[in-house]
Amino acid sequence: MTTATETALDQVAALLRTARSAIAFTGAGISVESGIPHFRGEGGLWTKFDPYKVAHIDTFRKDPAQYWTYSLEHRRADAEPNPAHRALVELESRGHLRAVITQNTDGLHQKAGNRQVIELHGSSKSVVCLDCEARFPRAEIDRRNREHCPPSCPSCGGQFLKPTVVLFGEALPEAALREAQVLAMAADVPL
Ligand SMILES: [Zn+2]
Repeated sequence: MTTATETALDQVAALLRTARSAIAFTGAGISVESGIPHFRGEGGLWTKFDPYKVAHIDTFRKDPAQYWTYSLEHRRADAEPNPAHRALVELESRGHLRAVITQNTDGLHQKAGNRQVIELHGSSKSVVCLDCEARFPRAEIDRRNREHCPPSCPSCGGQFLKPTVVLFGEALPEAALREAQVLAMAADVPL
């Protein structure tokens, strides 16, 4: 006997088989199995922390050290992709998926092997200086951070080094948003 889930999966598979421009839109849920905490809903980070206190651009500018302390405690830099990430790689490599559009900043879609990934909320893998706009790999700044928190800019000495993630109060990156809109408008199957 087939279950309702199996029937639904068969239907999705049939749709994807004939899709010509399918997209997958993902959020925190896909990375939970990789040990990355989600934000909203039961047990989510935002039920324990007020996002306006720890992840708002205004608070960041007032007190970058608080943001970095929170981020160092909750970031899982060593997280690995899980079977859901790998399934999307498989779909892309077989030509059934045109792109992944994600709200996640963990880079796990790319780590899994997806080539077309649009990051609507930026990436936690790099850091930008709000004074001189220089960008640095996150690992390099994390090293400096262990010596002195908040880290200062290796180029200009500025005190506002921010991961290239979109904080509350910031606009989504324009290019990514445009690209996502074009893909979504053309999509015949959105997952
Ligand atoms: Zn700088």
